[in-house]
Amino acid sequence: MGKLNQGPEMSNVRCAEATFPLIQPLMEQNSSDSTTTTTTTPPPTVAMVGPYLLASTVAKGFGRGAKLLGCPTANMPLSELGEQAEQLQAGIYSGWAQILDGESGSPKSPAPNTVFKAVTSIGWNPYFDNKEKTVEPHIMHEFQEDFYGCRLKLLVCARLRDEKNFDSMEALIEAIQQDIRDTDACLDEEQYKVLQTHEFFGSGV
Ligand code: ADP
Ligand code: MG
Repeated sequence: MGKLNQGPEMSNVRCAEATFPLIQPLMEQNSSDSTTTTTTTPPPTVAMVGPYLLASTVAKGFGRGAKLLGCPTANMPLSELGEQAEQLQAGIYSGWAQILDGESGSPKSPAPNTVFKAVTSIGWNPYFDNKEKTVEPHIMHEFQEDFYGCRLKLLVCARLRDEKNFDSMEALIEAIQQDIRDTDACLDEEQYKVLQTHEFFGSGV
């Protein structure tokens, strides 16, 4: 059985200074429809964390996200992020992101200061065996342009899973797509949704 299906018997998880309830297991929530395979609710092991409030400029990375994986990830340099990013355990996280102006403006958004859903990889990317820890959010919106050099604010509020290695690039790409679906479902839950309007983002929604 996959890791995401483990641990439904737990009802709480200890994170930072507080104890937060785990989201109800999928089977309990959808007990009338046990044949559904598409995840429309978050996986049972999602745990609330932080929230961690991270901000940096967007830097160039290895250029693999869009080209190899079909999923661009904005590189947030550790040197700008400080202690919070160092404390964050490697893994895949859900949260909210806002792109602010850089020297050459900001990418076109549905509205100024929009706060988007984001799925973030934190760690060493075992498949690529990186030597340095990276913090790389994929913002769940299709932009028409890059936004290197822009300021990016990222609120990390839920931990989806551990980092792991994959036997093939196809398996990695499938896991990323599942993480995107899980993030989409997770952030619709009330305890995460309220954080979209956290004061960290100013007046932007
Ligand atoms: P890099 O290795 O430089 O991070 P990627 O292939 O991962 O290269 O692409 C990331 C860049 O793509 C970001 O820095 C940003 O400028 C741009 N980008 C466009 N759309 C998105 C998106 N939805 N999420 C994250 N970055 C995006
Ligand atoms: Mg990237």
